Amino acid sequence: MAAHIHQFLCLKDNFGVLIHDPETRHTAAIDAPEAGPILEALAAKEWNLTEILVTHHHLDHIGGIPGLKAKFPEARVIGPAREADKIGKLDQAVGEGDQVTVGRLEAMVLDIPGHTSGHVAYWFEGEDILFTGDTLFAMGCGRGFEEPPNVLFESLMKLAKLNGEIQVYCGHEYTLANGEFALTIEPDNVLLRDRVAEVRQLRAENKFTLPTTLTIELGTNPFLRADEPSVQQAVGLPGADPVAVFTELRERKNRA
Ligand SMILES: [Zn+2]
Repeated sequence: MAAHIHQFLCLKDNFGVLIHDPETRHTAAIDAPEAGPILEALAAKEWNLTEILVTHHHLDHIGGIPGLKAKFPEARVIGPAREADKIGKLDQAVGEGDQVTVGRLEAMVLDIPGHTSGHVAYWFEGEDILFTGDTLFAMGCGRGFEEPPNVLFESLMKLAKLNGEIQVYCGHEYTLANGEFALTIEPDNVLLRDRVAEVRQLRAENKFTLPTTLTIELGTNPFLRADEPSVQQAVGLPGADPVAVFTELRERKNRA
């Protein structure tokens, strides 16, 4: 674990995250919700921005790019090829299996469509760090804006199969609201109850709830648990196809 990570809030509840390689002093921003807080974080750490890794095209993930480029014109913008027309000029357009480097740190790109059609994750395998943007959240998932629910579900299952110890960073601090919804589905899940109690405490102290791990998510995130009898029962679909259960969960959360 050589990488240094610095996480902070942008806009209302977006996360800004910097990943820094102390050997080469390369530093990447994961998404660019707004330039100001990212530039302040870079200055506080005395890090220079060398890469911007974009997960998807929504404005609250790319709106800060022009301001960052104004200060760091050499920073390379890396993002999904399938959304290049919506993001603007990419110095490296990426998709499934591509390698991205931040100095000596290497990430593999994973296509995880659903929230948007071209959404990607960045998996720093050597560091056990995964950036999931707005696809997987702690105890939740993003809305499927651009693809049918089965596509988003497949993307979540793809992430769920990675090493459970991976530290997961997400695009928003939505954990408490997600946990409260999850409790309506699995009120008797002890892991979930303990996790929500922990999250309430963290938020009361104004602390962040991320990163999470895939192991924690497999035990507490209803959207990864659509094949669990307790979850199927809760949405009135015992024995149903997990995609149908997932779809019903997503619709209930949209209404919550
Ligand atoms: Zn989004």
